[in-house]
Amino acid sequence: MSSAAPSNIAVQNHVLPSYLNADNLGPWGIYLQQVDRVTPYLGSLARWVETLKRPKRALIVDVPIEMDNGTIAHFEGYRVQHNLSRGPGKGGVRFHQDVTLSEVMALSAWMSVKNAAVNVPYGGAKGGIRVDPRSLSRAELERVTRRYTSEINIIIGPNKDIPAPDVNTNEQVMAWMMDTYSMNSGSTSTGVVTGKPISLGGSLGRREATGRGVFVVGSEAARNLGLDIKGARVVVQGFGNVGAVAAKLFHEAGAKVVAVQDHRTTLYDPAGLDVPAMMEYASHSGTIEGYRAEVISGEQFWQVDCEILIPAALEGQITAKNAPQIKAKMVIEGANGPTTPEADDILRERNILVAPDVIANAGGVTVSYFEWVQDFSSFFWTEEEINQRLVRIMQEAFRAIWQVAQDNKVTLRTAAFIVACTRILQAREMRGLYP
Ligand code: NAD
Repeated sequence: MSSAAPSNIAVQNHVLPSYLNADNLGPWGIYLQQVDRVTPYLGSLARWVETLKRPKRALIVDVPIEMDNGTIAHFEGYRVQHNLSRGPGKGGVRFHQDVTLSEVMALSAWMSVKNAAVNVPYGGAKGGIRVDPRSLSRAELERVTRRYTSEINIIIGPNKDIPAPDVNTNEQVMAWMMDTYSMNSGSTSTGVVTGKPISLGGSLGRREATGRGVFVVGSEAARNLGLDIKGARVVVQGFGNVGAVAAKLFHEAGAKVVAVQDHRTTLYDPAGLDVPAMMEYASHSGTIEGYRAEVISGEQFWQVDCEILIPAALEGQITAKNAPQIKAKMVIEGANGPTTPEADDILRERNILVAPDVIANAGGVTVSYFEWVQDFSSFFWTEEEINQRLVRIMQEAFRAIWQVAQDNKVTLRTAAFIVACTRILQAREMRGLYP
């Protein structure tokens, strides 16, 4: 791999809109810094790197709905297609009160990198609505979902861009999206979204896939560090689709999950929390708050003695402030973008291994890919086949990235970006610019 500096990049039209400015670090600024870090390793492909710094397409939509009380509410929604060089767009849809265009842009870019890192034939996309879904009734949630789907209908489709669940969206939301798209197009189109219920063309193993991928990558990383999972102490931020499943699999493998944090509380038990019982509790209450265990503060959470830390909530959680306090030997990023670049540097200096999001949480999109393939052929695989294929893809991708990190003496994040950005830009170069 050449280490030529990217001095030969001719950037035309360099007056960037303010949201593309890396100085103003939000999620998109963080992503731009990550691209800058990888550019010296891209050799002659560096002349295409500007492609990665601009989303191909960003759609902002107004989502008006009638509320149950008769008033009209407007929500802002987005669908961003960051890069489609390697295939149709792929990435989740997030419903959250803090969703911004910058955030969705960054999440779409990380999807481009992730899909290329595990070599599934997709570009990167992401969507979201700035709404607190907990404040909506079920009927209002359905109306928001259906109106949003209709608004982005023009750019999604099984061969164009395939949404999936993300924070606060689930199988039911995917079923409404699939139905709305199908109603608009006049025929049932199961392949337009993934993460659907099994009865509507969903895949076995999809619900657990991201957490399973976190566990596979965590196990590989632990093996490389000579760390035994059995007896290892694990700390998890976020107890949703990703965090709870990852916690359960580590628990089943003999690790002790000693602290868990969700949006309401932080629970701690040095002897190990009963993860299945907490999952059962959270399935009824929507939170782990109130589960019988010691409560610690949000600040103490980052100082808990452990070997493995799994951020599996939101981005920007591990910062220059809490990174010096982290006791773990490794951080396995279940969430997208949980670590700021400054925190990344601190963790590296402190010799704490970071398995980056673009590989650690790629299990979900990998099984989404399986779901999409199964929908096209209307032929469904067993859960065993799915899990075997998932484990193989994740292990191979992680081992390849580990090797690139060793060869170039870079972090796993930079290594993953080297592998992924090379694939994306090779595709871009081979396709050429149109017209
Ligand atoms: P989810 O909605 O199922 O769960 C989110 C969890 O985070 C909840 O337990 C919530 O209480 C907690 N949380 C929210 N805000 C918090 C805060 N400020 N502090 C602590 N905890 C907080 O979402 P999910 O699907 O598990 O996604 C979690 C992360 O994983 C996101 O970054 C998402 O982009 C990423 N991810 C998800 C998938 C997937 O397949 N669902 C795939 C790849 C990446």
